[in-house]
Amino acid sequence: MRQIISSIQNKAPQEKFFIQASDEFFESIETIVNLSVLKVLMNPERCIIFSVPWTDKEGKTQVNLGYRVQYSSSIGPYKGGIRFDPSVNLDIMKFLAFEQTFKNALTGLSLGGAKGGSDFDPKEKTDAEILNFCQSFMIELTKHIGPHTDVPAGDIGVGAKEIGYMFGQYKRMTQEFTGVFTGKDLSFGGSLARPEATGYGLIYIVQALLEDKLDQSIKGKKIAISGCGKVAIHAAYKANELGARVVAMSDRSGYIFDEKGLNIKDIDHHKKSGKQLKEYTKANYVYELPIWSVPCDIALPCATQDELSSNDVKSLLINGCKIIAEGANRPLSKEAVKLVQSSEIFYLPGKAANAGGVAVSGLEMRQNAQLTKMTFEAVDKELHLIMLTIYNNISKSAQKMGQKNNFLLGANACAYEVLEKAILLQGVL
Ligand code: GLU
Repeated sequence: MRQIISSIQNKAPQEKFFIQASDEFFESIETIVNLSVLKVLMNPERCIIFSVPWTDKEGKTQVNLGYRVQYSSSIGPYKGGIRFDPSVNLDIMKFLAFEQTFKNALTGLSLGGAKGGSDFDPKEKTDAEILNFCQSFMIELTKHIGPHTDVPAGDIGVGAKEIGYMFGQYKRMTQEFTGVFTGKDLSFGGSLARPEATGYGLIYIVQALLEDKLDQSIKGKKIAISGCGKVAIHAAYKANELGARVVAMSDRSGYIFDEKGLNIKDIDHHKKSGKQLKEYTKANYVYELPIWSVPCDIALPCATQDELSSNDVKSLLINGCKIIAEGANRPLSKEAVKLVQSSEIFYLPGKAANAGGVAVSGLEMRQNAQLTKMTFEAVDKELHLIMLTIYNNISKSAQKMGQKNNFLLGANACAYEVLEKAILLQGVL
């Protein structure tokens, strides 16, 4: 196995993120890996890189790079978000598409894996600049996507506004109104509960773990959540609704803490007005990051990759934290994952814990294909069931692999088996 992995990785030794993700994944499930399937899964099916020229507000031409990594179509059309952030490069795209492939397999829906984006930075850009960029980006991306081929969605830097601009351009170029994007506005085929899905799903899977492993409910639990974006805010709302206490939240400017529980509605309102947490006058004090020194029962990293270090795991342990569940993609550093796995803390990896978002994207695709609209309650109910099923499946897989509390191993093995079966049946010997 090692030889195959190294020979593929050596072709692009600079791809640090992809190398780390593929190493960790396959090493964890070495005992069950089929070597032919390994070769298939170590290579994305297609990587598209293109230039995106656009005009800035001074009338000057700027050029960014655009990417779409179509990693696997073994179990369904390519599916995964688009990220606009200066950190985007081929390595990050391949790594995220790799992770997305396994996350999507865990949802139980027919969704392949992909990721795309650009190093374009939407921060402090005018609407006209963003529109101009999105339209230029779609001139190329349109050639590669379609409702049965590849269905992008949002991710960091890409919300409903950008999706609307991209969808509009796709429609003009193809003369077709199809469900080619998910995360759309409700007015043109979006799904109710899609904005809430990742955050709600995160709480549902934490609830399942609490009941199963600790025989406890989420009621009264103290929760620390990093981030103040869509995932974090909706996780906070759902936690509150179920009787938990969100004691701390953060953004780039710092974190706020209230032992009695924060007012989520107020924070949501404050953030929606475009302000930072350090300008939140209702907080007694805004503390310096990281947030993880606060005493809590449950830690939900929902901001970005590598935001929780092994030192943070140590602080959480000292403060009695019982569960860490990833709302963001790979928020724990490699060392943090190692440490948490050898500790008493239960760890739910992102590919299982934050799969609620892409799962409801799958429901949005289904609604578009059927020209129907589900109610909020119906989507939420199905999301809840999907998250419970993911929990049960990864828990069973972990048990089968001989490490009953190792949910990372369970998630990797379970997702791998779903893909392995499809790959072999489609003609791999
Ligand atoms: N970007 C989200 C994720 O990381 C959603 C992807 C989608 O809905 O296609 O899972």
